[in-house]
Amino acid sequence: MINTQRLSDEFARLAAIASPSYREGAISAYLQERFRRLGGEVVMDDAGPRAGSQSGNLVVRFPASGKDVEPLMLSVHMDTVEPADGVVPVLEDGVFTSAGETVLGADDKAGIAEIIEALEVVREKNIPRGPIEVVLTICEEVGLLGAKLLDPSLLRSRRGLALDTSGVDLAICRAPSANKLRFEISGRESHAGIAPEKGVSAIVVAARAMAAMRLGRIDEQTTANIGTIHGGQATNIVPKRVVVEGEARSHDPERLVRQTAHMIACFEEAAETLALVVDGEMVRPEVLCEVVSEYPVMDVPESASILVLLREASAGLGRTLEVKGAGGGSDANIFNGHGIETVILGTGMSHVHSVQESVRVDDLVRVAELLVEVIRRA
Ligand code: ZN
Ligand code: CA
Repeated sequence: MINTQRLSDEFARLAAIASPSYREGAISAYLQERFRRLGGEVVMDDAGPRAGSQSGNLVVRFPASGKDVEPLMLSVHMDTVEPADGVVPVLEDGVFTSAGETVLGADDKAGIAEIIEALEVVREKNIPRGPIEVVLTICEEVGLLGAKLLDPSLLRSRRGLALDTSGVDLAICRAPSANKLRFEISGRESHAGIAPEKGVSAIVVAARAMAAMRLGRIDEQTTANIGTIHGGQATNIVPKRVVVEGEARSHDPERLVRQTAHMIACFEEAAETLALVVDGEMVRPEVLCEVVSEYPVMDVPESASILVLLREASAGLGRTLEVKGAGGGSDANIFNGHGIETVILGTGMSHVHSVQESVRVDDLVRVAELLVEVIRRA
């Protein structure tokens, strides 16, 4: 049923169009034309200028054709990580890789090609289907910017699939929420050799805070990390300022709150402990904490209609669908946050975010087949 050559050609064409985050202009232009040719009505939102990208998000609407059912959303992202300029897709023994200097961009173009092929087949075979909304986001790889800026009122779907993970016949229904944390510690500057007792070292405050902090895997559902530290000027100056950045993630929103509070408390306790009297004046290091919620938790229940549909489609093809949780956030977290029950579907991409990235043509075909079945049964 799947036209393997057409699917493989489409993937190669998409891969060859450079589309690192913020520079989605060319791929967006191509996809607008491509989806119009498929009969879709293409809308671009205003996320482009707001995110600083060459393109906005695209919403492509396919009105129902022969079937009156709830709409189905299929989402993918248009951007890739770098190095992304001058991608040369190489097909050898049924496996696509880049020529070696760049990523392949199968993350997420495998998903885009699979959706296009599925829609081609559904049209070709006149398979009755309900309304479909294809959402193509920008800047997923730099913090889900496009999905966050997308106006959810543009979408009518209450259920969807986000094609954006490795593996095939694999669905992800749980993902944690995450907080980004930034701590700016201000101490007091002083000459380290002449008057060290007049200084309060911001680096020592940070060190003490982090030494007391629970980090890494906190429990089954929660992780935390300090990722960057910047500060200090010279070895002979007691450092006045240091900036520490980290994150916390959890599948349980309450535990995320608890871990975040713990990390903040460690800095505040360290500042308290290291306060000292200089020239009769109490100097307490200052800690400025910034917490930004990166994405809400995703937790699609077994009973959700999208998961039931996906399981049925998979079983209908004689396959076993693996359903599990994941450790990272993606556009699907944002869609779920808007009340669109969205499951992440494996696209076959492999070794993503590296120049060894690859995808097998057989897997592209396998996922496109599953999509056709999902659309048919939706
Ligand atoms: Zn991706
Ligand atoms: Ca990615």
